[in-house]
Amino acid sequence: MQSIKLPLKVENELKKVSKVAGYLWQREWAERNAGNISMNVTSFFIKEDLQGIGEEIPFNFPKGMGGFVIYITGTGCYLRDLVDKIETVSCILRINEQSNAYAIIWGGKRDGFAPTCELISHASIHLFNSINQPENLAVVHTHPLELICLSHHELFDNEEELNRQVWMMCPEVKVFVPKGIHCTPYALSSTKDLAKVTIEAFKKRNVSLWEKHGATATAPDVEKAWDFLDVANKGAKLLMMCWSAGYKPKGLSNEQLKELEQFI
Ligand SMILES: [Zn+2]
Repeated sequence: MQSIKLPLKVENELKKVSKVAGYLWQREWAERNAGNISMNVTSFFIKEDLQGIGEEIPFNFPKGMGGFVIYITGTGCYLRDLVDKIETVSCILRINEQSNAYAIIWGGKRDGFAPTCELISHASIHLFNSINQPENLAVVHTHPLELICLSHHELFDNEEELNRQVWMMCPEVKVFVPKGIHCTPYALSSTKDLAKVTIEAFKKRNVSLWEKHGATATAPDVEKAWDFLDVANKGAKLLMMCWSAGYKPKGLSNEQLKELEQFI
């Protein structure tokens, strides 16, 4: 496969992908082929340099995505392989002007490679971000243990209360996940329905907690998306540790939480 030389800025972003993939694996948040990562890298490329590279593969992208250049992990690929085999298990693709096909311009260097089956969710989020919050270029989806457990709890039906209980565990959770967690209703993986509910989540929250499945965050880069998931999960973990020890945590008061808003 033809492969281009990457701009330095893209290489730097890919280094962050490898680093974060290592964290995800160590945390047991990326078993087998679980999780996927993508980044809108359109602005790092000169459009003309990419013309005619790679074979076009039909795909029904949302209208308005013509010309987008997206880094994305592969279907069935193991995130842990992003640490040292990033060109094998992920790719950069360019969407054609009609938004009905893509061509792989870098990576995907293994037999039968294809982008993650969550491509439609990632693409939809990138389109949404480009219109509404263009600073957010990265999307990370993973399986954070304690957040998934919380999505099975009755608190999941009361988003406001779930956030209060997670935020009250320690000041950093309130400060670094200021918009909180969205309790995103269950939808089947790789469907347009899942893409739709996730976009609803990002209209108001930092993290979309996919019911009985995992969590997704969007941010300016992959490390910052990881931070949202890491800190949100910390709140969930602390809460559940207190429950496991047999007591209900006292928690920061509403006044103390309010006082923290000066740091946001
Ligand atoms: Zn998943």
